[in-house]
Amino acid sequence: MKKEAIVLKYSSTRGNAEQLDSAQAIIRGLAADGGLFVPDAMPKVDMAFIEGLKTLSYEERAEKVLGLFLTDYTAEELSGCVTRAYGSGRFDTAKRAPVKAVGDKSVLELWHGPTSAFKDMALQLLPQLMSTALKKTGEKDEVLILVATSGDTGKAALEGFRDVPQIRIMVFYPQGGVSRIQQLQMLTQEGKNVNVTAVTGNFDDAQSGVKKIFGDEVFNEALAGKGIRLSSANSINWGRLVPQIVYYFSAYADLLSAGTIESGEAIDFTVPTGNFGDILAGFYAKCMGLPVHKLICASNANNVLTDFLRTGVYDRQRDFFKTISPSMDILISSNLERLLYHMAEDKAKVASWMQQLQQEGRYDIGSELLAKIQQTFWADWTADADTEACIADVYEKDHYVADPHTAV
Ligand SMILES: *Cc1c(COP(=O)(O)O)cnc(C)c1O
Repeated sequence: MKKEAIVLKYSSTRGNAEQLDSAQAIIRGLAADGGLFVPDAMPKVDMAFIEGLKTLSYEERAEKVLGLFLTDYTAEELSGCVTRAYGSGRFDTAKRAPVKAVGDKSVLELWHGPTSAFKDMALQLLPQLMSTALKKTGEKDEVLILVATSGDTGKAALEGFRDVPQIRIMVFYPQGGVSRIQQLQMLTQEGKNVNVTAVTGNFDDAQSGVKKIFGDEVFNEALAGKGIRLSSANSINWGRLVPQIVYYFSAYADLLSAGTIESGEAIDFTVPTGNFGDILAGFYAKCMGLPVHKLICASNANNVLTDFLRTGVYDRQRDFFKTISPSMDILISSNLERLLYHMAEDKAKVASWMQQLQQEGRYDIGSELLAKIQQTFWADWTADADTEACIADVYEKDHYVADPHTAV
């Protein structure tokens, strides 16, 4: 018997003008009104689905979870995408994202990909999803991905997009603003479709430059005349976010297999947070039925999210700190917009908050919505000195090397 097919459509967090298939949403990246694409319904799973993941490989788990969201991709297409992303020796461990016991906690290791960056988990798969989307929608244009990076995203994006058909990538990094290893990883990147450029200035200068190119209509029209459209590889793109939902399920299945938890037992995830992509993927997993108790939002001294999750006021007007966990040095967490949409279920409100953020640098969601968000989210932050102390402590007690983001 054929299972009834549920088709998900995607529309903007700020309005309903466009209803797109996931493939189209992934090609577009950002909605025309500036909002982010969100699914119009939440797929649900039961414990039998989760139990069923225990014996599967990471690729098979990914296929099952992705299939619930990317309903316009065929099973064959998804299988090809996940195999190219995670298979064939690209990761240094068979588990891809193993769970390790450290003291009385468990650590989900997300750095076993080809560039040793956490961002490989999503940036290995996004290019495959995008290239398949171009093929299946009959898009003839070439896509040019522009990336500004403070280090990790650049190398992971270059490796993910290298030699992917119909897509080219250019990465801009601040001269002297990335580590020597990251710089060498980028400058020695192989692939016929990759380009790396150092920018005089800091990361913000690189990012402003890229944003300016995206917003330059005349330039974009000239590119369109040559059959090229610009796109982005950061976590505003649904195709970058959806791969991250998989490892929450994978971690739970592994904890079940190890006997660390019992079937149905709710667990907490503590997530080092910057752009709110990683922790939002955990929120999607919870909404789908994964037994998650709290999602703990961990920040460094750039603690705008800690304040928001405690007070309901998002205020980006504050000092920016360079910390030893640079991938979390962010004051505008783009993906929070998706959480606000799912929690408030009011697109006009989301649009108005985002407008206030842009114009006044702050918005206030009010106590009622805050209370609803606090049922799932809890937040705190840590200063560099405590992060360093934690690294030493974990090493001495548990003989485990934690990077600064994990230590936060
Ligand atoms: C990007 C990154 C984060 C933050 O993830 P977001 O999805 O931006 O919240 C945390 N840790 C590391 C190592 C990262 O590379």
